[in-house]
Amino acid sequence: MQNFDPFYNNLPKTEIHCHLEGAIRTATILEIAREYGLKLPAWNVEALNSHVRVLEQMKDLQTVLDAFAIAQASFTAPAVVERVAYELFEDAHRQNVRLFEVRFSPDWAFRTHKLDWDEGLQALLRAKARAEREFGMLIGIIAITSRGLGVESCQRTVDWAIGWKEHIQGIDLADGERANPIDLFIKPVWKAKDAGLKVTVHSGEDTPASFVVDTIRKVSPERIGHGIHISDDPAAVAFVRQAGVTLEVNPWSNYLTHSVERIEDHPLKRLFDEGVRVTINSDDPELLDTNLNNEYRIAHEVLGMSLEDIAQTNRYALEASFIPDALDRLGSHFAAIG
Ligand SMILES: [Zn+2]
Repeated sequence: MQNFDPFYNNLPKTEIHCHLEGAIRTATILEIAREYGLKLPAWNVEALNSHVRVLEQMKDLQTVLDAFAIAQASFTAPAVVERVAYELFEDAHRQNVRLFEVRFSPDWAFRTHKLDWDEGLQALLRAKARAEREFGMLIGIIAITSRGLGVESCQRTVDWAIGWKEHIQGIDLADGERANPIDLFIKPVWKAKDAGLKVTVHSGEDTPASFVVDTIRKVSPERIGHGIHISDDPAAVAFVRQAGVTLEVNPWSNYLTHSVERIEDHPLKRLFDEGVRVTINSDDPELLDTNLNNEYRIAHEVLGMSLEDIAQTNRYALEASFIPDALDRLGSHFAAIG
């Protein structure tokens, strides 16, 4: 549940795993639908929330697919991309987020209304420039390539991101890894790396530790999205620690999708205590009805991490940021808290 408790609000934060597509305010979905004549299953915020948010641990996949379909259909024009992104930065700023890396899949988000990818990105860049100016945040951009859209889509997304590498810092290979294993994507991912883009891969969310180890061996990503199931295998934990790979952990998301059955059993603190470079993130804050404050609350109150532990996860995020000078520019904010 989103929370704006001043105690958590005041902590300086980093967010390095957040999907633009899962971060549209419900009120904005409504306004866009009215403006562009879109269909919706409900026409007020409260009623629509039950269609665009996952409010309890998922009973079936359809709930989340339906919610994402509405989000996808909402990207009707570059002006909408700009608005959604700016509102996301604004919501992050309200929680004292200093470093924000936002990710989106152009081939997925811009598909329904056939938006031009360059125009979509330029809109996002306008929102970024405005938010950096108004809020003093540092913002990075990651291009997602969705495994489910196939290898050609991955190649196209990588080539596009390379063309924009002055503004896009990295790529993320996202989506279900069982149906579309890493082997299919090795070549385009290495092409991105060779061009100087950073790489993160969604892995070990609902798959075992071996998937994460395999991914690191094959494409050598700087970061892994989720990766929490390495906690089932001490050898995988040691491997990730030695590789120095940073995990982008999203506790509430993992609970809602049954990647962990009970939030109390989430391995975030265990992995931290074992020396893994874990960070705390929100994944899809609107769609999953969470925010960073809530994730920090879970880390502190439910999982027992100290405020100093949490500050350390922020330093890990700065060190692993895809924005090259993030640590120099923001390190002083995270020197000591609590
Ligand atoms: Zn994610």
